Amino acid sequence: MEDVRRRPGRPTHNSTRWPYCGGVSEGLFGAIEAGGTKFVCAVGSSPTDIRAETRFATAAPEQTMAKAIGFFTEWIARNGPLVGVGVASFGPVELRLDHPAYGHITTTPKPHWSGADVVGPLRSALAVPVGFDTDVNGAALGEGRWGAASGLHTFVYLTVGTGIGGGAVVNGEVAHGLVHAEMGHVSVRRLDGDDFPGVCPFHGDCLEGMAAGPALAARLGQPAETLSGSALEEAVAVEAHYLAEGVRNIVYALAPQRVIVGGGTSAMPGLLPELRRRLVAALAGYPGLPEHAAADFVVPPGLGDAAGIAGAFVLAGADAGRDR
Ligand code: ZN
Repeated sequence: MEDVRRRPGRPTHNSTRWPYCGGVSEGLFGAIEAGGTKFVCAVGSSPTDIRAETRFATAAPEQTMAKAIGFFTEWIARNGPLVGVGVASFGPVELRLDHPAYGHITTTPKPHWSGADVVGPLRSALAVPVGFDTDVNGAALGEGRWGAASGLHTFVYLTVGTGIGGGAVVNGEVAHGLVHAEMGHVSVRRLDGDDFPGVCPFHGDCLEGMAAGPALAARLGQPAETLSGSALEEAVAVEAHYLAEGVRNIVYALAPQRVIVGGGTSAMPGLLPELRRRLVAALAGYPGLPEHAAADFVVPPGLGDAAGIAGAFVLAGADAGRDR
């Protein structure tokens, strides 16, 4: 089996430590958005040129991977080979290329998926290079290539939904070392008078414990989508406070040029303007850059729900001509 780390004659992206397939401009790629509830598989030259697509519910690993492999093998039999396949996966995942469990899901509460091999079956069955990263890192790559961070080299994609996760692209590369980033678990200062304990099973009142969708629902006693009027305003203020605290940590730790905030909870009406306002207050004039206060510093995703599959295309190698 060809090893993407030693692929000759083709530019690879930091090939010794980064699970990209490398960037090429021609040919067709396979892309998999491997979600905890559904898989999206696509073939195309980019997310704007998709030739075939299928979606199915995420079942047990063997059946799910077999469905994905079936989709691609059928395509290849009818239309010819793919250049590479990229997978943007739910996690946590093992990303160290030299680790025996590289390409596997590690520990997840999702039944049967702890330890499941995602990359191995694809490589064996399809005989193509397979790029692999987390769904949120994939979304960051997609937004960098085609979306709200196009043209930037250092930025963060934060998703706020059933959990909170962040993907950081720093100088054009996704940051990961021992493991992928876990920005949802940074510490946040409490809103004055707030005694909500938080819902993170590990930390209680970390960012995710205070501001992910389930935290908000537990605090409110009802889903945030059911609110209106002053109750909604109040919920937005609390949510914006904690997200601003999280983004403040990110601003100081990673110096992003932009922070993209996506995910279901981020769609609360009025949240982003309030988050921008509270972020400026939380930064308290330090380091005093006008860019941090600008409307284009904290932005919604440019690709919407397509960020994940776009990221899978980047991971597959469809990233030639990147302008960052
Ligand atoms: Zn936590």
